[in-house]
Amino acid sequence: MEKILVIGAAGQLGSELTKSLADLYGSESVIATDLQESARSKFDYCRFEVLDVMNKDGLRDLVKNEKVTQIYHLAAVLSATGEKKPIFAWHLNMESLLHVLELAKEFKLEKVYWPSSIAVFGPNTPKINTPQYCVKEPNTVYGISKQAGERWCEYYFQKFNVDVRSLRYPGLIGYKSLPGGGTTDYAVDIYHKALAGQKFSCFLKEDSYLPMMYMPDAIKATLDLMNTPRELVKIRSSYNLSGMTFSPKEIFESIKKHHPSFEIEYQPDFRQAIADSWPDSIDDSCARKDWGWKPDYDLDSMTLDILKNLPDYFPVAK
Ligand code: NAD
Repeated sequence: MEKILVIGAAGQLGSELTKSLADLYGSESVIATDLQESARSKFDYCRFEVLDVMNKDGLRDLVKNEKVTQIYHLAAVLSATGEKKPIFAWHLNMESLLHVLELAKEFKLEKVYWPSSIAVFGPNTPKINTPQYCVKEPNTVYGISKQAGERWCEYYFQKFNVDVRSLRYPGLIGYKSLPGGGTTDYAVDIYHKALAGQKFSCFLKEDSYLPMMYMPDAIKATLDLMNTPRELVKIRSSYNLSGMTFSPKEIFESIKKHHPSFEIEYQPDFRQAIADSWPDSIDDSCARKDWGWKPDYDLDSMTLDILKNLPDYFPVAK
């Protein structure tokens, strides 16, 4: 039987991915873990343990005692928070990945999943249809940690045969939980404000294009990659992945079709510089070719789905 350990399971991605893993493999096959006891309430459908990924011995005991076969390592400090606490972000993002890779090597785990990000790209990267292989000079500590993490993943695959797989997610947009301190968080917050009938203050400029992805597509991509036969996974650093690309003005207009009185103002802050260093759009042809990736959602179909479903999760917005 598979035993799948999810680290950082209570976050924006983990909350949804863990449920999909439980649906796919069975609840008894999944152990959700996160830092805080308060996260337990999110996991009434599978086992939950409090675990700090930096506690190497605690993590090792869990992997050994539970005979874990796969790890999904999602815990990280994200881009905007990382700029406020750079050394902490580097320490957590790098050491936690090395803990997981070491355990995968020691216990010969079947598979490991670790997400990278479009933050690996930087100001000298081609911005339109950013290729899989190109100049990467990230200028945020988050991007630097993701780039270094990609190199470690490929290294452990080549040197130690660790079957680690990764995706460079664009900004993830979901309605089931709140985002965790990224530069693309505005594209989640904007729906909450629209439904609450409030004016939205955007921390990016109106024409600031960024690659984005609706959460169901991110979950689908993750599970598809993880279920692809080993020999077809050709890229062991991290795959480029594309869903849609839009600016704050375009997402505002997409929402306004349903909420005509919705208003927005633009007040760019320090996150504008981070956004400016990232691509506008991503070439994900390697993912399409190697394991058949294709997104289901565009901006308008995502907007429709979120406006319909978000009030069930955040009733205050009704
Ligand atoms: P999040 O901040 O919402 O969730 C991260 C979770 O990790 C939180 O629940 C937090 O409590 C937990 N955590 C933090 N420190 C921990 C520790 N020491 N031990 C155990 N758990 C700890 O982040 P997310 O948006 O869910 O992102 C998940 C992963 O996806 C991250 O690696 C992130 O870099 C990557 N990613 C996310 C996005 C996005 O737009 N959300 C985009 C690209 C990549």
